[in-house]
Amino acid sequence: MRNLVVLFILFTFSLQAQESDSVIIRKFFNEELTKGKSYGLLDHLANNIGGRLSGSPQAAQAVDWGKRTMDFLGFDKVWLQEVMVPHWVRGDKEQAKIISSKEKTEVRICALGNSIGTGSKGITANVIEVKSFKELEILGKKKIEGKIVFFNRALDPTNIGTGSAYGGAVDQRGSGAVEAAKYGAIGVVVRSMTLTMDDHPHTGGTWYKDSITKIPACAISTIGATKLSESIKLDPETKFYFKQTCEMLPDEKSYNIIGEIRGSQYPEEIIVVGGHLDCWDICDGASDDGTGIVQSIEALRLFKVLGIRPKRTIRAVLYMNEENGARGGEKYAEVAATLHENHIAAIESDGGGFTPRSFGVDNENAIAKMQPWVELLKQYGIMEIKKGWGGVDIGPLKKSGAVMIGYTCDSQRYFDYHHSEIDTFDKVNKRELELGTSCIASLLWLISEYGL
Ligand SMILES: [Zn+2]
Repeated sequence: MRNLVVLFILFTFSLQAQESDSVIIRKFFNEELTKGKSYGLLDHLANNIGGRLSGSPQAAQAVDWGKRTMDFLGFDKVWLQEVMVPHWVRGDKEQAKIISSKEKTEVRICALGNSIGTGSKGITANVIEVKSFKELEILGKKKIEGKIVFFNRALDPTNIGTGSAYGGAVDQRGSGAVEAAKYGAIGVVVRSMTLTMDDHPHTGGTWYKDSITKIPACAISTIGATKLSESIKLDPETKFYFKQTCEMLPDEKSYNIIGEIRGSQYPEEIIVVGGHLDCWDICDGASDDGTGIVQSIEALRLFKVLGIRPKRTIRAVLYMNEENGARGGEKYAEVAATLHENHIAAIESDGGGFTPRSFGVDNENAIAKMQPWVELLKQYGIMEIKKGWGGVDIGPLKKSGAVMIGYTCDSQRYFDYHHSEIDTFDKVNKRELELGTSCIASLLWLISEYGL
């Protein structure tokens, strides 16, 4: 009998706990969906500041805006964390042509981030099309030397998660220049990392190695890639011409911006939510990663405006330089380690502001602990908390033992826009963005209440 009473008490207690969690979560959604600031903040960041690559004047403006915004919202503490970042500039509008025995066809390209320029005359050479680094090895120096290598492996459309499709192709963009240079190539042109067939080239970081000759690298639109491939089939002597005047300047001083609300019971246990403030220069970076930035700020604002005090400290971190160096994420983790801070979890939103789907978590024990929370979040669109990946910016914190969590929203349109001139504010839906913000605030609440 006594056992039954105890069980009954435990049962009603857990029911009450559940209820108060669900009431709190409902409050987040009600506030955000009626008086939310996510969309207005994004409007300012995308339309008034715009493209903000590390080291640019717009990136400095964005830092200023992020600090002022969090100060204005009255978080307990807001500060800047200095970090030196690469400063790459694109230069003049890039030019490119396919030159076959029959015709010259202009195509749309853009330089890959961190790439060197071609010189003012540009480069012209025969093209060799490949789909993998293995093919380069098979062709060898004899067939590749003096040519432009054309990487044309498409994203796999049968991959339902577009992030996996991207992950299966992006080595060509990141390492194509280094791999082709090993065999004496003089330049590379990479098919844009998108599943759509359109005429927008998609930029993104490319990475050199000091020991290997640097050669210029550009992205070609998927329409351009199709034309180039067809031209090579018809005329194996097809040449490609491209000109880009981009260059790497000396490092610049920049900042991560951090705002926090102190925990009431375990203030030394920290939960981070973040995204990256920098974005490519050819777009306004609304989806990559303006949405993650405003969701991080706004999630904390919801606690503040609703008078909800978390038990553990919650921090919004606006990371600098994810796109072409990831130095902000490194710096944050380095400082956290120096200060012996205890980060129990880090959440990143860097997949756009689309309809919520799930949270991806890198730790099995944490996933098990979080399963009851799915019931609370299902009605708002979070159908699963499952094995997954956190994000580039929070990655370096993993060493400290923090659980890595990625906010996962519908992924079908993200890579249509990603790193291209059409990643703009008009592609973001206000309501979808707000639902994501509220899901993130809810997760912050649950972790702050129960730990991980
Ligand atoms: Zn991003």
